[in-house]
Amino acid sequence: MAQPRHPFIQFHDGRSIPQLGLGVWQTPADETAQAVKAALAAGYRHVDTAAIYGNEAGVGEGLRASGVPREDVFVTTKLWNAEQGFDSTLRAFDASMKLLGLQELDLYLIHWPCPARGLFVDTWRAFVRLQGEGRVRSIGVSNFEPEHLERLVQETGVKPVLNQVELHPRFQQQVLRSYHAAHGIATQAWSPLGQGQLLSDPAIAALANKHGKTPAQVIVRWHIDMGHVVIPKSVQAGRIAENADVFDFALDADDLAALARLDQPDGRIGPNPLTAAF
Ligand code: NAD
Repeated sequence: MAQPRHPFIQFHDGRSIPQLGLGVWQTPADETAQAVKAALAAGYRHVDTAAIYGNEAGVGEGLRASGVPREDVFVTTKLWNAEQGFDSTLRAFDASMKLLGLQELDLYLIHWPCPARGLFVDTWRAFVRLQGEGRVRSIGVSNFEPEHLERLVQETGVKPVLNQVELHPRFQQQVLRSYHAAHGIATQAWSPLGQGQLLSDPAIAALANKHGKTPAQVIVRWHIDMGHVVIPKSVQAGRIAENADVFDFALDADDLAALARLDQPDGRIGPNPLTAAF
């Protein structure tokens, strides 16, 4: 059966990103190619990896094995914290591209701002260089707070197209989302299912029952409706397909209100970018 084409989110640089992608954090290197292939067969056209995940080679292998043309797939990878700095960023980019086996990358992200290192602006200058050379199509960041975004723009004049941050119904990031909206920066949700912890939430289970869908599908649909780029992770082909089978139902105003009530000020699962010790 033909898969529906996923919606796109427009970047301020004129390019766009499929709103749904496969995340591969904690996907073992030797299972990554299979997961990527399963995702592409299920209609995904977007994969999110990072140098630190240790599976960029598997992503490249899965892309090539899928038979889907390179131009039809959006690939993101991320610069790890230890490589921040102008020259080391250029070297790390080359290493990632060699592992991926790609000529051009769709999106390169600074993985964390690491404000204590004081290097994210120099790192960003290297990103701007790589984009100017045509080696990466779009450049963005991850785990940046407004103060970090402002510094990039003030010091380089170049605004990230996207910020990938922890975001799920229990940690809705309203202030940051409003900032992104005001500045034309796309919001991408990492750990969109709360690393699986939200799947047993009774309010989400009730919505799943109401719509005849699974809790994971309700949450992915919520992200789509909120305008986030969303990258759920699974290594199981059945779950990968399930997480993309979200375009045959709609959440109503009551459903969205029930999901809004799950937000918690301390709902964060991962590190706080302002205090993370890396
Ligand atoms: P997630 O919220 O996507 O949850 C993944 C877990 O949920 C899986 O391990 C699985 O156990 C479970 N799951 C997935 N689909 C399911 C289904 N249909 N039914 C039942 N269980 C299901 O967690 P994540 O991997 O942390 O986040 C997704 C992606 O976000 C990552 O793979 C990575 O690409 C990205 N990420 C980025 C950062 C960052 O700092 N930029 C940090 C964390 C994650």
